[in-house]
Amino acid sequence: MPKKKAAKESLTYERKSGYASLSPADSKRMEDISRDYLAFLGTAKTEREAHDEAVKRLEAAGFRDLEGLPAGSRLAAGDKVFRAGAGKTVAAFVVGRKPLEEGLHILGAHIDSPRLDVKQNPLYESGEMALLDTHYYGGIKKYQWVSIPLALHGVFVRPDGKKISLTIGEEPGDPVFTITDLLPHLAADQMKKTMGEGIEGEGLDVLIGSTPSKDKKAKEKIKLRVLELLKERFGVVEADFVSSELEFVPAGPPREAGLDRSMILGYGHDDRSCAFASLRALLDLGGVPPHTACVLLADKEEIGSSGSTGMESSFLENAVAELFNLTEGGYDGLGLRRALERSWALSADVNALHDPLYPAVSERKNAANLNQGVIVTKYTGSRGKSGASDANAEFVAEVRRIFDGAGALWQSAELGKVDQGGGGTIAFLLARFGMSVLDCGVGVLSMHAPWELIGKLDLLMACKGYRAFLLDGRRAK
Ligand code: MN
Ligand code: MN
Repeated sequence: MPKKKAAKESLTYERKSGYASLSPADSKRMEDISRDYLAFLGTAKTEREAHDEAVKRLEAAGFRDLEGLPAGSRLAAGDKVFRAGAGKTVAAFVVGRKPLEEGLHILGAHIDSPRLDVKQNPLYESGEMALLDTHYYGGIKKYQWVSIPLALHGVFVRPDGKKISLTIGEEPGDPVFTITDLLPHLAADQMKKTMGEGIEGEGLDVLIGSTPSKDKKAKEKIKLRVLELLKERFGVVEADFVSSELEFVPAGPPREAGLDRSMILGYGHDDRSCAFASLRALLDLGGVPPHTACVLLADKEEIGSSGSTGMESSFLENAVAELFNLTEGGYDGLGLRRALERSWALSADVNALHDPLYPAVSERKNAANLNQGVIVTKYTGSRGKSGASDANAEFVAEVRRIFDGAGALWQSAELGKVDQGGGGTIAFLLARFGMSVLDCGVGVLSMHAPWELIGKLDLLMACKGYRAFLLDGRRAK
C-alpha cells in the first residue's frame, strides 16, 4: 500500500492555544466531559469516595469484580474486569487481543488529595468551644486552610465491625466547619512570621460546637455535648475516633470559572482530573484494545505512595497476577514479569501551569500554559532531576505519535525552574517493573490549595490522548 504523504512538518516547535483549532464536535465534547467531571469531582472528595464512584461507574459499564467471578472462569478479549483494594484503590482492565505477556497499556492516577485528617484522639474543649485536632495530609500551605468553610467526610469503624460513613457540610442545609484565624488588629506578631510559620500544624484545629450538655455534673459540658450528638446521630463514642478516618475538605461543589466558563474551580483536581480522564478513556474505549488496557487509581501519592493502598504496594502486580490466573495458561510468574516489563504506562498526574502572578518560578520555554493541551513531562524530580523516573526518548516519541494521530493537543513541560523546587508522582514506582513510563496530565493553577483551577480544554485533551494511548497497537518492530 502506498504510504500516505505526511503533513508538512514545522521546522520550529510552537505551542498554541487549543481554542485556535477546536472543532465544533470537540467543543461540544469538551462541555459534555466538563459537565460529567463537575459531577464526579463533587461526589469524589476523598479517596474512599473516588474509589466508590469509580466502582459505580465501572459496574454500570459492565465491568465485573475479579473477586466475584465463578471458579474456573476464563477471560477473553474484550472482557471488562476490575479489582478493588481496601475501598481506596482500584485497577480496572479491558482484556486485549494480544497475550498479556506482550504488555499492558496502563494509565496510573492517584485519588488522594491534600486535606486535614482528624487525629485519633482529637476532641477537646477550650474557651466555651469544642474543637477537633487535625494532622494535615500532603503538602499544604497551612495559611490557606483557615477561615474557609470545611466539610467532614469519612468513616468510623467500631470494634464490632460496624462501619459508619458520614458526610457533613456538602448539602445546602448542612452546617459547615471552620478553623478560626487571628484578626488583623491583633496579628502584629503573627504577621512578622514567615508564611510557613504564621499558621502552625498544631494550630489547624477545627471548631465543632459551642453549646453545653444539660448534664449538670459534667466538667467539660461543651465537649460532652459534641459526644452526645455523635452518639445520637452516628452511634459512636469518643474512643471510636481511634478507629476512624475522618477528613476535613473544602465544603461545596466545584464550579465553572471565568466569564466565559472556560475553567473549573474545584477541590482535588490533583489528581482527580487525571483519574477522571483515565476512567473516561477506559469507559469510552469503544472497542477491543490490542494490548490489555488498564486504569489504576492509587491512594497515598500525596504522602509518598507508601502503605498497602499506595503505589509502593504490590496491588497492581497482584491484580495482573489474577488476570494471568484467569487466562488459558493460568498463573505464570515469568509471564507476569514479562507482561509488566513490556507494559507502556502514563503516570496520569497533574503538572503546574505557568502563573502570570508568579512568573519568576517558571522557565517560559519549558513551562506549561493553560489551554495548550495535556502536559507531557519527561522527568519530574528536583535539584538535578533527583528522584525522577525520566522517560526514555524512544517512549516519549511513541506518545507524541499517538497523541498527534488522535488530535490530542499536547505540550511539553517541566515542573518549575531548575533549582526552584520540584515534585514527584507514581512514575518511578511504575518504572520499577521495568516498563516504559511517562508523566502526562492536566495543568493546574493553585495546586494543593483548597480550590485548584484547571482549563476545560486541557481536560478534553487528556481524555482524548489517554483513550488513544489505551487503543494503540504499537508500531511494527
Ligand atoms: Mn498528583
Ligand atoms: Mn499533589
